[in-house]
Amino acid sequence: MTHTARAYTGRFAPSPTGPLHAGSLVAALASWLDARAWNSGHGGRWLVRIEDLDTQRCVRGGAELVLQQLQGCALVPDGPPVFQSQRIAHYQDALERLALAARAYPCGCSRKDIQAELARQGRGHQRHAELVYPGTCRAGLHGRAAVAMRFRIRSDEPAVLWTDRSLGAQRQDVAAEVGDFVLKRADGPFAYQLAVVVDDHAQGVTHVVRGQDLADNTARQILLQQALGLPTPVYLHSPLVLAVDGQKLSKQNGAVAIDPTRPLQMLNAAANTLGLPTCSGSIADALAAWVQAWRGIYNPAL
Ligand SMILES: [Zn+2]
Repeated sequence: MTHTARAYTGRFAPSPTGPLHAGSLVAALASWLDARAWNSGHGGRWLVRIEDLDTQRCVRGGAELVLQQLQGCALVPDGPPVFQSQRIAHYQDALERLALAARAYPCGCSRKDIQAELARQGRGHQRHAELVYPGTCRAGLHGRAAVAMRFRIRSDEPAVLWTDRSLGAQRQDVAAEVGDFVLKRADGPFAYQLAVVVDDHAQGVTHVVRGQDLADNTARQILLQQALGLPTPVYLHSPLVLAVDGQKLSKQNGAVAIDPTRPLQMLNAAANTLGLPTCSGSIADALAAWVQAWRGIYNPAL
């Protein structure tokens, strides 16, 4: 080999809660382009992971539909897709490792308990729906039944700092802004944070490219990577398609499935959201042009 290929593995990780819509296609295209643009255009690997742990939200046949839609847009993974529903034993193993290292502990608090404790501490009025866990069960359950396992943030843990390739320098004090977060509920699936960290490592993911709505999860995932002794990938959080109400476009606020009979039109809309030009001609030509444009914007050779 005459050039030094740098390892690159990226992924697109959809939840099969229905067909791809305009917003999810942006995330798919962004991660695909970044992988293809790598190594001066020589390319890296691009994988697909189906995040189907929350079975109540997944629809039957949803994964097959998403994979078909990607193929219709010529976004074809460099390997068979991974299904999170088939990887429960790996999440359990990671949870046990954390518990053995005293980095995970059982919690017996209901949402009401957490609200009451926060009020008692004078922290009752929180803007976010997600309550900061006040640490009630850090010293034990005191006879209560466990309802969840939580990650133990070290008391001297500094704020997490990372550099996002699109958003720039980022900082989150997870202890103050989130608190010890849930890794698994007794009656529910493993938490997104734990599954993503375990799977990114198992799939050898070096570069995460995903929508900006997920940027807030990054600090928690970095803490988990550190606690499990895993490397931290490079992150790029891409722009979102916004609904008319300014919120992220989702099935809840009217996103419609992409039209499989007009893949180029759908790809053009996604490309425009990413700041890439509209292309005509074949899908292959358009994708090749966007790979070049992507290299100019996001500098993936670095
Ligand atoms: Zn608790």
